[in-house]
Amino acid sequence: MRYIEPHGHMVSRTTDDYIKMATAGCACVSEPAFWAGFDRSSVDGFHDYFCQLTDYEPKRAAKFGLAHYSWLCINPKESEDVTLASEVIGIIPKFIDRPNVLGIGEIGLNKNSRNELKVLEMHVDLAARTNELILVHTPHLEDKLKGTRLILDVLKADSRIKPERCIIDHVEEHTVQMVLDRGHWAGMTLYPESKCTGARACDILDNYGHERLWMNSACDWGVSVPLAVPYAALEMRKRGWTAEQIDGVIYGNPIRFMSQSPKFKL
Ligand SMILES: [Zn+2]
Repeated sequence: MRYIEPHGHMVSRTTDDYIKMATAGCACVSEPAFWAGFDRSSVDGFHDYFCQLTDYEPKRAAKFGLAHYSWLCINPKESEDVTLASEVIGIIPKFIDRPNVLGIGEIGLNKNSRNELKVLEMHVDLAARTNELILVHTPHLEDKLKGTRLILDVLKADSRIKPERCIIDHVEEHTVQMVLDRGHWAGMTLYPESKCTGARACDILDNYGHERLWMNSACDWGVSVPLAVPYAALEMRKRGWTAEQIDGVIYGNPIRFMSQSPKFKL
């Protein structure tokens, strides 16, 4: 088996996790900028985090034979302070040309607040001006449907944004169709406590096709399973999927999306 982890917060994982992922056939990790489990107190905290995502972590992943890519932003959970968000967005151009940066993400909404929406629009503008790919986080709680609609409308309102260059992550049964209908890619996050299970992800693939969907484990600082994608592949095998079909979803699809950035090479 070979696969790609397209959404893994590796800075919060141990080297044991890298060893397990490489052993399971992981070829490459892509790491969106995210909440650290606490709110950073200043723009300097994000500066250091972006250095970690673009310099230290790729070197750590390389020790286990894994290519490492990253995405930059101030995440929705820390977007309530618009002044801080402006400062953080202001330093992203200093990092955007680093060789492992694939785009802007994971941007989006957490509580669907007015300030979060404002910061989302600022990120979308930055991605449009710099011609970067976009990776979107959708809210996890009861407001996922509303939040997804709001996000899709922000993307649609900016005529510079090409839908096929945006992936909307953490989709579930009630949001996947609207994302695909707008021409975007959709990501399913496999999580033991919330979000989607491997079995549900397989059902979604059966119902909505294999073309513009990927699966990821998130594997952040909370309870999460870094091997969730290969575990889901076992579920696919149990259901009679061919090796080619499984490979197409867990390896081919992330490559097709991320190859839209000229920096992505495997
Ligand atoms: Zn994430």
